[in-house]
Parts: sequence; C-alpha cells; structure tokens
Amino acid sequence: MGTDVKKYQGVGIGEAIAFGRLRLFHRPDRHVNYIHIADAESEAARFRQAKTLALRQLDELCERTLRDAGEESAAIFTAHQLMLEDAVYNDSIHSIIRDQLVNAEYAILCTAKAFAEKFEAMEDPCLKARTADVQDVSDRLIRILSGSDSCLTASEEKIILCADDLTPSEAAALDRDKILAFVTAKGSLSSHTAILARNRNIPAVIGVGEEFLREQIDGTKAVVDSCTGEVFLEPDEAALKKLLEKQRLLTEKKYLLQELRGRENITLDGKKIDIYANIGSVEDVKSALANDAGGIGLFRSEFLYLERSDYPSEEEQFAAYKKVLEGMAGRQVIIRTLDIGADKQADYFHLKQEENPALGCRAIRLCLMRPEIFRTQLRALYRASAYGSLSIMFPMITAVSELEKILAVCDEVKKELRRQGIHFSDQVKLGIMIETPAAALISDKLASMADFFSVGTNDLTQYTLACDRQNPDVEQFVDPHHEAVLRLIEMSAESAHRHGIRIGICGELGADTTLTEAFLRMGIDELSVSPDLVLRIRQAVRGIDLSKTVTPLQTAQNPAYNTGS
Ligand code: PEP
Ligand code: MG
Repeated sequence: MGTDVKKYQGVGIGEAIAFGRLRLFHRPDRHVNYIHIADAESEAARFRQAKTLALRQLDELCERTLRDAGEESAAIFTAHQLMLEDAVYNDSIHSIIRDQLVNAEYAILCTAKAFAEKFEAMEDPCLKARTADVQDVSDRLIRILSGSDSCLTASEEKIILCADDLTPSEAAALDRDKILAFVTAKGSLSSHTAILARNRNIPAVIGVGEEFLREQIDGTKAVVDSCTGEVFLEPDEAALKKLLEKQRLLTEKKYLLQELRGRENITLDGKKIDIYANIGSVEDVKSALANDAGGIGLFRSEFLYLERSDYPSEEEQFAAYKKVLEGMAGRQVIIRTLDIGADKQADYFHLKQEENPALGCRAIRLCLMRPEIFRTQLRALYRASAYGSLSIMFPMITAVSELEKILAVCDEVKKELRRQGIHFSDQVKLGIMIETPAAALISDKLASMADFFSVGTNDLTQYTLACDRQNPDVEQFVDPHHEAVLRLIEMSAESAHRHGIRIGICGELGADTTLTEAFLRMGIDELSVSPDLVLRIRQAVRGIDLSKTVTPLQTAQNPAYNTGS
C-alpha cells in the first residue's frame, strides 16, 4: 500500500471490502430552536418540501414493511401519511409560521404538542394511540428539516456511514440497500451493534478512534477493509488496485464455499450436527435460506420492538413470526422472547436509568415484571406456531423459580387461546438460554424442566469474566477461550444430555472455528451463527475427525488440534 495513503485502524467485522464515500451520521437532535424569520412564505415552502420527502420516506417504509411483516405493520406508515396530509395539522403549522414569524421546526413542534395533548385526553383508546403517530410524524419532519437524517434516507447514492458509535436500534434501522459499510470511532466487538452488523452482513470497522471524526471526512472517497479493520482515505491508484484484487479473492473464496450448499454438516468420522442462522428481522430469513441454514437458532425478537414509538401489537408480532415460520418452511425456528434493557432501549418502555444496566431489569426479568407485555408476545408466538416448527426460548435465566413462573404463564396463555378457539401447535418446545454462570451451574435442575438449552456465549462471557460487553476499555481482559467459560458450556452440555435434551450455541463463539472441534467433543448438537457464516462452519465441521482421543478442553487450548482456517 502506498505510504502516503491516509489510513485509520480499528477492529473489523465481517469479511468484505467496501468502496464509496464517507457520510457522517448526525444523531437526530430532538432539541428545536425558536428562530424568528422574516420571510414566512419561504419558510412555509421549506415545510412543504420536508413534507414531500417525509411522504416519500413513508412510502418506502410502508412498502418494505408490507413485504417483511404484513399489512397490519405497514398500516402504521399509512396512518402516518394520513396524519401528514391532515388539513388541521397542516393549517396549524402554516398559521404558526405566518402569524408568529417562526421557523418551520418550531411551528411543527408547537403543533405536535397541541395535537398530542388533545389525543392524550381522549377516552377512545384508538384516538389516544394517535398521540404516538403525531409525535413520530413531527419528529420525522424535524429530522428532515434539520438535516439530521439526510445521510440515511435522503441520499440516492450508497454510502459508508461514519459515527461516534451506533446504538443497536440505529444499526437495526440501517437500510442495507443504502449502506455499503459503517465505521465508528468507538464500539466493542461483542456489542449488539457489532452483532447486528455481522448478522445483517454489513461490513464494519469499529473503534477507529475519535481523531477520525475530527477530520473533514464527510464526502471523502474511502475504502473499508473489514477483514483487517483498516479504513483508507482517498486511496491512490496503487492502493485501489491492491484492494480490488483482495476483493476479487474474497469473492472467489465465498463462491467456492457455495459448493457446500446442500451438503451435510458431518465430521470425517460421521458425526452430524445442525448449523442454524441467527436473525434479527423477518427480512433476514432470505439470507438464512440463501446460505443453506438448517433452521433459525436465534431470532432476536426485541428488534421488532426497537425504532418505534409504541409496543408492537399482538397482530403485528403474529404477522412477523408467521412470516419467519412460513419462510423457513417447516425447518426449526427458535424465537427468543423479548430481551430488552441494557444497551437495547426503546423510549416507550420508560425504563429507569440504572447504575449497572447489564445487571438490571433486562430480558426475562422485565417480562416477568410486566406480564402484559410478555403475554402479548406469547399469544402472538403460540398463534404463529400453527405455521411451522416453533421453539420459544427465554433469555437471561438465573433460577428455577423463574422458569417455573414462565412455564405457568405459557400454560395460562395456551388455556386462554383454547378457550377462545384459537388454533396453535401442541409441538412448541420451550427452551432457555444458558447465558449466566448461575444457569450453567444449576443446569442439571433446569434441564429437567426445559425442552432444550442454547448457550449465549456473549453474555456468558460478560458475566463470567466480569467484563461489560459494551465497554471497549475492558476488551483486553476478555479471553473468549477462557477455561471458565468453556467449563460452564461443557457442564451445561453434560446436564442437557443427562436429561435427554438438546443443546446449541447461539452466541458469537459458536462461529469461532478454532473452537468448533471442542464444541463437537462436548456434544453440542447445534451451532447457530450469522447467516453468511453457515457455510464456513459447515466447512470446519467437515474437516474434523473426532476419533482422535482428546478431551474437549484440550482441543480448545491446544492450537495443534484446532481446525480454524
Ligand atoms: C448471547 O448473549 O450470547 C446472545 C446470543 O444473546 P445477545 O447477544 O442478544 O445478548
Ligand atoms: Mg444474551
């Protein structure tokens, strides 16, 4: 590479090279300034332009949602469009601009406030619910006017998004058709943002340092190499040539992996396992199928709850789960119940600020504390179970008593559905995540109550090694092959098999090919990984010979036994 090419180094996610222009992500600033204006007509024209763009964005959202989650979900955006066209709403904004000579953003804010108060005071729950619509629509207009979402939605050109950091909801909302890659100044490898990038096959480089954002990078031509974690600014001819050649080789490697489509996940000595895919949206089913995944080992259902202004209804959730089950056409689908809290936040949950959110009210704890949210999700899941092979999985279990409560709620929900004559499958399996040391240590008891285990190595590592997965400063203390974590997995596998239930791994460690042999020797039945890693893991499994006599932990620790490529 030419020495004069400016380069930033971070940690890469995925294996791809992206060529494009950098665009700075401006986080929507909810603060609106009051600005006195002189020309009311041109301010009103600004508002009308923003409205046209908002309507176009809503058209796109509506189309995408209709495709991915069905009519009921898409109807939200149609309602937003109607709100935008509402004559009283429009008159109010125009008259505030004209009478008070203020900027459009301020006029929208005042109108939204007045409308929200009016709706909030109504008795009818349907009209009350319009509070969220008016707020959402007004936020969208303000974002457009302040230019804070221009790089995500208004740009026609595909871009490389740059930010200080991205929240999981921001990463989930990225439009795959418009984003070539993203680069963040901060970020940690096991954060949900990094996981989402991997699952959604968006190349990324995280943790390039604050200096990067201090440069005038907006609009700069760049290349992101997510294999090495390098970001090259304005690369010269020679650098471009090398990177293009590297891209060609990567494409070739991926193409060769396609040969493994339709082949078995079988070791040299004949042991078969399942390789499933982790997904975060209905849309991801396509890449699970394209990569020949045998099922879905983890659908992070919380992403249905993020980036919106109110709880998804039972109907909306039902439509999404049904689409996933139908899409997977009878293959096993494990849907995890809501795992919100910690880094995954949605304003409308009104979660309290916590000192240690990873140790706080997240996941199953929140569901048990707010049973109405839990029951709505369970009803949607059971109803969808009639359309495929569904397993439901519960996150962050630490005690037998929690599982008892969960099973009781499931029974009540089933009874209620039967009473209402609503059909569901009686084959739904109920499993738990082993992602706390407590769950692994009492796995013998939990195994007698659950239908299956799935190890969440991301949280299991965080809680075992006492390293906050969101904190990049402690990443140096995270040893993903730490014997303590591996022993807990082995212990859980023994408990599972003693009770005749299956155990999978759905955390990121499941994709670490240097551990594949160790996991197979522990008796892990299923590995669930990002869709585009399915064939890579199949390749690793097919190169393993379990007839050699070593213990799983020896395999994990002795690189001579490792099969990683
Ligand atoms: C895990 O903790 O390993 C896991 C799969 O769940 P999440 O990453 O969503 O917390
Ligand atoms: Mg977890």
